[in-house]
Amino acid sequence: MTEYLIKNGFVFDPVLGIRGDVADVAIKDGKIVETNAVKSPKVIDATGRTVMAGGVDVHAHVAGPKVNIGRNFRPEDKLFNTRPGRGVERMQGGFSVPTTIRTGYNYARMGYTTVMEAAMPPLYARHTHEEMRDTPIIDQGAFPVFGNNWFVLEYLKNNEIENAAAYIAWLLRATKGYAVKVVNPGGTEAWGWGLNCENVHDPVPYFDITPAQIVKGLIEANEYLGLPHSMHIHANNLGNPGNYTTTLDTFKISEGIKPKGRFGRDQVMHHTHVQFHSYGGDSWGNMESKADSIMDYVNSHDNITIDMGQVTLDETTTMTADGPFEHHLTELNHLKWANSDVELETAAGVVPYVYSPNIKVCAIQWCIGLELALLAKDPMRVFMTTDHPNAGPFIRYPRIMKWLMCQEAREQQLDAFKHKDKVIDATHIAGIDRELDLYEIAQMTRAGSAKALGISDMYGGLAPGLMADVAVFDFNPNEPYVPDDVEAAFLNAEHLFKTGVHVINNHEIVSNGNKRTLWVNARVNENPQVMRDVKEKFLRYYTVTLNNYEVSGHHYVPNPYVIEVDATE
Ligand SMILES: [Zn+2]
Repeated sequence: MTEYLIKNGFVFDPVLGIRGDVADVAIKDGKIVETNAVKSPKVIDATGRTVMAGGVDVHAHVAGPKVNIGRNFRPEDKLFNTRPGRGVERMQGGFSVPTTIRTGYNYARMGYTTVMEAAMPPLYARHTHEEMRDTPIIDQGAFPVFGNNWFVLEYLKNNEIENAAAYIAWLLRATKGYAVKVVNPGGTEAWGWGLNCENVHDPVPYFDITPAQIVKGLIEANEYLGLPHSMHIHANNLGNPGNYTTTLDTFKISEGIKPKGRFGRDQVMHHTHVQFHSYGGDSWGNMESKADSIMDYVNSHDNITIDMGQVTLDETTTMTADGPFEHHLTELNHLKWANSDVELETAAGVVPYVYSPNIKVCAIQWCIGLELALLAKDPMRVFMTTDHPNAGPFIRYPRIMKWLMCQEAREQQLDAFKHKDKVIDATHIAGIDRELDLYEIAQMTRAGSAKALGISDMYGGLAPGLMADVAVFDFNPNEPYVPDDVEAAFLNAEHLFKTGVHVINNHEIVSNGNKRTLWVNARVNENPQVMRDVKEKFLRYYTVTLNNYEVSGHHYVPNPYVIEVDATE
């Protein structure tokens, strides 16, 4: 493989603690190496430019059946957004639900190299893997959903943590999954009867268990196994005024549970898209930001990590395994609605949504997401996301950087809100003058998210030995700039290396890369009861056989990166 030396850039790397100093980055055999380890490298002149590790997205919806429902039922999303193939680039389309091809290219253009699909229905794991396989350049993993799974509900109501752990290990292997995802615990199952679980103590119909028990049991099973990532949750009561108390109640379940301490991860809970879970008030009329209460908790409890779920003020396509929420949303906006039930496992809904700056609630949501990041004391535990495409498409990450880095840009947006004064009254943003620097941005988009995912020994930094995922942006942090320069530069990387392959050269995509799929192989002691339960449920309830369920063979995961976990000791 070609050796490279990226010379004289302003380097921002939390792993090495480099805060914009001029430094060189060397690449050999797909890895970052010491600069004296390359003999006759191809030199990339990064003078006056910003150099960072490849971005790591902890939570996006980019592959699988609900994403495809979104693509199918929103042809208008690609009306003005298709582009024919050119050079190595294949034809691409779509904005809020881009094609697999555009997904890979757009992430690469923003300097991202690793993206986690945040909700994989186990029954449709094959479909999810086929889409990830067809997504160029970026490494991906997928989180199977567990929070409404009948096996899990039955084991946990009897507090059978070891059985739940054995089932999780089996399902991760069967689906080639990466982490334990929980969406509206118990509430999505309740949706099968037209019901929901609105707080952590609301019982799940027919299962004699509460969301709190599900969350606690899944954290304990996650730590019993010692998986790379912590239990990853979208809590109950998403998107409702007053829901911040449910969020705090959910956070508190993590207290007192110790991480197993493997893979460099220090937390036991990741709470996703917290913007949607930080609302005060008791109606849409008096809904207000509780980002301050939420961040008081996060800042003082190092057991958890969170991501933003930033609203980007776009027309987008919401999609979630939170079935009852999507029904609630279509009742609010009267746009089209798709709903799906996944046998013993989960459900999903899809509804288009327009986040308008003229609507007070949308403007308050925009403020809340930014407040979460701007009030963060430890940017290594608060990550940038839009819960793509729910709060907005991921292609807006550079715009979010602009808002986080420039108070002037936030003020411009506030001035553009139709109900500016009411929005300021209901939020804290007007009183926040913090401007994040590129080091903090690198923590929120690379080093922190890689650490939370348990992959900081491979991704998220520029230390020798890590994967050579490196981005060069045409942005000089030491010269005066206007806010829009930030968005323009970070939307359009000048160079990108993915595992040592030069995939973007002078802003042009020149290679489809060497994409890999990450999954976790957790070995547990043999558990005949769980395997008996699996066989019985497939015979009695599933519409497919076990053989047609498991993701097996080279076809689905042609380039796997398997993370081995030994839970037998
Ligand atoms: Zn999500």
